[in-house]
Amino acid sequence: MGRIVLNQVTKSFDDVQVIPPLDLTIQDGEFTVFVGPSGCGKSTLLRLIAGLEDTSSGNIEIDGNDATALPPSKRGLAMVFQSYALYPHMSVRKNIAFPMRMAKMSQEEQDKRIEAAAKALNLTDYLDRKPGQLSGGQRQRVAIGRAIVREPAAFLFDEPLSNLDAALRVGMRMEISELHKKLKTTMVYVTHDQVEAMTMADKIVVLQAGVIEQVGSPLELYHTPRNVFVAGFIGSPK
Ligand code: ADP
Ligand code: MG
Repeated sequence: MGRIVLNQVTKSFDDVQVIPPLDLTIQDGEFTVFVGPSGCGKSTLLRLIAGLEDTSSGNIEIDGNDATALPPSKRGLAMVFQSYALYPHMSVRKNIAFPMRMAKMSQEEQDKRIEAAAKALNLTDYLDRKPGQLSGGQRQRVAIGRAIVREPAAFLFDEPLSNLDAALRVGMRMEISELHKKLKTTMVYVTHDQVEAMTMADKIVVLQAGVIEQVGSPLELYHTPRNVFVAGFIGSPK
C-alpha cells in the first residue's frame, strides 16, 4: 500500500499551465522528496496528489485505483501541515484524536492508536498539555501524530519544518527519517532545501517550472546530474 502513479498530469491556473504533462511513479514505502526553487510547482504537485487541487488533465492512481476524481478524504493519504494547524484550545490527546472522532471510531481504538502514535513520537508525557505549552518541535510532532492515527497509505509533507529554527530543523529531519524507518509507509516530502532533500530522500524528484529535470537517489543525482540545472541545484561538482 502507498504506490502513487501520475499519468500525463497537467495543472493550469486560469490560462497559465504551471504543470506541463508529467509522469511520475512513487513506489510503495519510498521516501520521495520533491525539490526545486520557489514557484516551481512542488506544492501544486503535492496538492494534486492529496486532492486539494483538481488536475486539469491526466490521472492519478493510488494503489492501483483511479483516484483522480476522489475527494481528499477518500484517497487514504494524510497531509501533514505545519504546527500552526493545531487546535489551540484542545489538548494534545484531543488534537491527535480529532480525525478519528470525525470518523466516529470507537473510543477503544482511538485510545490504542493515540498511545501508539505518542510512543512513536515521544509525546507520551505531553498528551494532556495544550499546543501553547509545547516547543515548536513538539507541536510539529503532534501534527504528525494526527496523521499517523489515520494509518494512511502515504504521508504528504509540504515544507513541514520551515517555521522551525535551524537547530530544531536538523533534529526533526532525523525524527521524520526515523519514523519512516519504523512505519515503512510511503512519504512524499516537499522542500526547497537541497540539504534536507539529500539527507532524507530515498528518491529525489528535481523540479524546475513544473518539469521534472531528474529523478534519482541522492547519490545518483550527486554523481551523475543530468544537466547544469540539477548539478547547480544539488551542488554536485560537475
Ligand atoms: P512551490 O511550492 O514550488 O513554491 P507552487 O506549487 O506553490 O510552487 O506554485 C507553482 C506556480 O503556480 C507558481 O507560479 C504559483 O504562482 C502558481 N500558483 C499556485 N497556486 C496558485 C493558485 N491557487 N492560483 C494561481 N496560481 C497559482
Ligand atoms: Mg510550496
